Amino acid sequence: MKIYEKAPAKINLLLDVLRKREDGFHEVEMIMTMVDLSDRLEMEELQRDAIIISSQAGYIPLDEKNLAFQAARLIKERYDVKKGVYIHLDKKIPVAAGLAGGSSDAAAALRGLNRLWQLGIPEEELSLLGAELGSDVPFCVTGGTALATGRGEKLEPIENPPSCWVVLAKPPINVSTADVYGRFRAGAIEQHPSLPRMLDAIRAGSFTGVCEELGNVLEDVTLRLYPEVRMLKESMLRLGADGVLMSGSGPTVFGLVSKEAKLARIYNGLRGFCKEVYVVRMLTSPGVQS
Ligand code: ATP
Repeated sequence: MKIYEKAPAKINLLLDVLRKREDGFHEVEMIMTMVDLSDRLEMEELQRDAIIISSQAGYIPLDEKNLAFQAARLIKERYDVKKGVYIHLDKKIPVAAGLAGGSSDAAAALRGLNRLWQLGIPEEELSLLGAELGSDVPFCVTGGTALATGRGEKLEPIENPPSCWVVLAKPPINVSTADVYGRFRAGAIEQHPSLPRMLDAIRAGSFTGVCEELGNVLEDVTLRLYPEVRMLKESMLRLGADGVLMSGSGPTVFGLVSKEAKLARIYNGLRGFCKEVYVVRMLTSPGVQS
């Protein structure tokens, strides 16, 4: 039997870091949602006890370092599954881009293997398994839009923001999330984004409000290290995006756009100097379809 599962990219509409905890993790407040820039996982049952990963993308690990591999190994161990699986990852989400591509692949593997092996694991339990693989995985299991607190693993589903176009541009640099958090100093942030105002804007279905309240304190680090990310933000705004923000720890910058008529100008303007530009829709249906 063969099944398919979609693994969409994640963006943060708001990312605030409150403090560094004693356990070394940072206490965060994030609003996360999904966009329709998706990897696709093809999963096929193997009668022998093996996990085999393949991908057309030559630049990701295919061994036990791959998060989809780790997801399969975890579910096999916990539920004592003797069969194996072959997983092909059709990668579309840029790697190390701040779009949680690896986490979303892991979540899609958990959802898919639950179906493939007919394990009947409830979604909350899948999320808990996901938390063992990475802070972003639980959100990627459930999808939709959520407020994440703690180290990012405490999730509260919230309403979806008004649907719109999302333009994503990734400059040709790889940013390490650990490095950005390592350099981050909460005391250096002059103005934190306002979570209550962003939640109000989302609840009111106000596209303008959401654009106004976009905020990510990690920009303070990444934009200083990589001026090209700042330039990308400025260009996107100048070309007509309604709201612009860096996603996660970067370097991808996304722009929210309400009018389709503006897209060609923004896309063509960015493509003049940035090779990786994507125009997608926000994913508004709750959960993640396969
Ligand atoms: P986040 O937003 O969660 O920090 P990211 O977008 O910055 O994630 P990923 O694309 O998930 O980063 O990749 C981070 C690292 O994880 C890469 O260096 C890559 O080698 C490794 N990795 C492991 N599994 C995968 C996978 N399935 N897809 C992409 N990268 C993977």
